[in-house]
Amino acid sequence: MVTVVDTKSQNTKTQKAARHPEKQKNPDTPVLRKPSWIRVKAPGSPVYKETHQIMRDNNLVTVCEEAACPNIGECWSKRHATMMIMGDTCTRACAFCNVRTGLPDALDRNEPARVADAVAKLKLKHVVITSVDRDDLEDGGARHFADVIAAIKDKSPETTIEVLTPDFLRKGNVHEIVIDAKPDVFNHNLETVPRLYPSIRPGARYYHSLRLLEKVKEKDPSQFTKSGLMVGLGESKEEVMQVMDDMRSADIDFLTIGQYLQPTRKHAAIDRFVTPDEFEALQKIAYSKGFLMVSATPLTRSSYHADEDFERLRQARAEQQRSK
Ligand code: SF4
Repeated sequence: MVTVVDTKSQNTKTQKAARHPEKQKNPDTPVLRKPSWIRVKAPGSPVYKETHQIMRDNNLVTVCEEAACPNIGECWSKRHATMMIMGDTCTRACAFCNVRTGLPDALDRNEPARVADAVAKLKLKHVVITSVDRDDLEDGGARHFADVIAAIKDKSPETTIEVLTPDFLRKGNVHEIVIDAKPDVFNHNLETVPRLYPSIRPGARYYHSLRLLEKVKEKDPSQFTKSGLMVGLGESKEEVMQVMDDMRSADIDFLTIGQYLQPTRKHAAIDRFVTPDEFEALQKIAYSKGFLMVSATPLTRSSYHADEDFERLRQARAEQQRSK
C-alpha cells in the first residue's frame, strides 16, 4: 500500500489557495496511480515523534514537512531531519515544489542558535541544511547560511555539514560567503534538464546553477559538490546524459536522481514513473562518467541517506587519491 505523507496538502481548500497563490489559475493535472515501487514507511515511531518534538520546541521549519517528502517516516525515525532556514515562504514559484510561495518575513537572527541547538539534541553525525529562495535579500541569505554553519561548528564540532543552497542568481559573488564558511558538502540542485527550465524552474537559469557549483570547486577543491535531478517530468534519457556530462565538466562529485512526485493537482504533471531498472541503468551510466558517488532510485532525494552517503563519498575520494 502506498502511504502518502502530505501533511501540508491535507489542509483546507482555503489554506491550499494561500499556499501557492500563483498556481491557482493552473488547470488541474491528472493524478497518476503510484506504482508498487513507490512504497514508504508510515511515520509515527517513538524516534519520529521525538524528532518532531525537537523541531517544534526549537521553532524550526523542515523541508521534510514543507516539501511533503515521502521519506519522512524513515528519515525521522533515524533523527535525520533537514532543516529549512530563513522561513517557510519562498520568493520563487517552481512548478514542482510544495514550499509556500509569497513574501517572506524578515530574517530571524536567533535561528542559527536554534538550528545548532537542534543538531546537538538530535546528536547528528552529519546534517543537511537547506533554505527557501530569498531573492528579497541583498545577499540572498548567504550570510545567514554562514551564520548557521558557524553556530553548528561551534556547538557540534564533530558534525559534518552539508548545505543545499539556492542559486544566488543576480547576487554577485555572495556564494563565496557560504564557501568561506566551509561546509563539508556544497549542494545545489539542477533539478531538471535545460529544455524544461522555462516550465519547471522558470526563475532559474541552467548555466548559472551549473557554474555556481563549478565556482565552489574552483575556490575550495576540498569541499564536495553535489547536485540532484528529478526524472519523470518529460525529459529524455539523452537529455539526462547530457546533464551528467555538464555536471562532470563542472567537476561535480555526487549526483542524486529521484522520481518527481506531484505535490498537488496544480503542480507540474508527472509524465511517467521511471522504473527501478531504469534508475539502475542511470546510476551505472553516471558512474561511468566519473562521479565519485551516485544515488539513483525512485525515492532518492538530496538529503535521503545523506549521512551514510557522506561517509561513502569520503572513502571514494580517498580511494581515488590513493590510486593516482
Ligand atoms: S529525504 Fe530529506 S527531505 Fe525527505 S524526509 Fe528525508 S531528510 Fe527530509
